[in-house]
Amino acid sequence: MGASTDAIPEPRLCELHSHLYGCLKPEDLEFLARRRPPRREIFLDSYRRNHGVEPPEYSTLFAGTPESRSLLERYYYFLEPAEFRFFQTCFDLIISVAHTDPEELALVSRRVAAAEDADYAEYRVLFPPRDSPALFGEKVHAICEGLRDAERDTGRTLRLVPSLWREQSQCDASYDQLRSLMHAQDIVRNYTVGVDFCHVEEGHPPAAKREFFARVLADNRADPGRALAILYHVGESFEDKSVESAARWVLEAAQAGAHRLGHAIALGVNPDLFQGPERGVRREVVSERLDQIAFELQHRDSLRDAGYAMDVDALMGEAKSLAALAEPESHSVAIEYDEARRENLRIFQDWAMQGVRETGAVVESCPSSNLRIARLEDHANHPLARFLAADLPVVIGADDPGILKTGLQAELDLVADWPGVGKSAVETMLVTARRSRSDRLAGRQPCLYG
Ligand SMILES: [Zn+2]
Repeated sequence: MGASTDAIPEPRLCELHSHLYGCLKPEDLEFLARRRPPRREIFLDSYRRNHGVEPPEYSTLFAGTPESRSLLERYYYFLEPAEFRFFQTCFDLIISVAHTDPEELALVSRRVAAAEDADYAEYRVLFPPRDSPALFGEKVHAICEGLRDAERDTGRTLRLVPSLWREQSQCDASYDQLRSLMHAQDIVRNYTVGVDFCHVEEGHPPAAKREFFARVLADNRADPGRALAILYHVGESFEDKSVESAARWVLEAAQAGAHRLGHAIALGVNPDLFQGPERGVRREVVSERLDQIAFELQHRDSLRDAGYAMDVDALMGEAKSLAALAEPESHSVAIEYDEARRENLRIFQDWAMQGVRETGAVVESCPSSNLRIARLEDHANHPLARFLAADLPVVIGADDPGILKTGLQAELDLVADWPGVGKSAVETMLVTARRSRSDRLAGRQPCLYG
């Protein structure tokens, strides 16, 4: 750090995992509904499909009265654990009033920043996949301007992390565009500090991102003034695979070079969650099962040293018969989480956590989001205490604090009461967060905050 930045006080609270539009509060939705005509059909279709009944008319929901506000809150907030589609319906309410035009993006950035808990915040934004390169550029520029204005309004330090689509061609096109914007415009260079991957995880293995991550890291070394951190949502949603495979994905993302891992639930979720009729048996597509078997065989010595029970002959036999299937992509295998398997999973996770620790990747844990959206339901299932016990660098994020009716401070207060976490771990995580800002992890030179 240069002498000129030494005088800038370190921020106390750093929000490192939040999505700009997920930060919107009911009053922001009212603002957007007034600004441009909402597209109610988006929310209507979603609500009908998932709840089987009609939601209120928007003239009622957005009447701008105290009664309509409390009605809006009832339809917007996602306060209890429920299937993901119900969360999506809440998010569709946002989409129905949002247009993501450049002017709106700048306004939203300012409104969100004004209500921010943290002194330093990074906001992720996923842009519509059909945006032309020119429009993508205009939008990124607009958000950066909004954040710059918000910094003047609030005294906070605010940064943008565009979320890229996981499909490689889309990802490459947005990344190239972002790099050229950072060359052409100082404001984009100064305010954009990383790239994120969110949205649907299933079907997008991190191993397929190795080459792209290597490219970003090489670009960072070649041009540290524009270095970007790689932020990667992984191990949050894993409906199509075993928990072991999902934990392996987290490890693979870290080993591929991701600087921060979003959620990483599978890496440390309590194996005892996987019991009973709904969660006790999982199905895994054959190709994923084959990948997992190959991985376990490759690491057999180290896994066995860690106490992981493996029957090498049985695994080899299973792999042989699965590989002989005519159409492996159309088959899946059932995996039953009996007590022995759950205990073995715990050992596998502990081993994988040590592997992540060796990479230095930082885990972003989002407590309320995980309890409700990922339906962990109770802190006893949440991986945070295990992450801390494994000495992983962990930070807390609010994820979608608007829909979840939370904030960074509320999340920190929540986990301060959890067994295995406590107030001192919260203090440690605050320090970790300061060190784990995207510019720092990416090796950005010089420090551009403040
Ligand atoms: Zn997220």
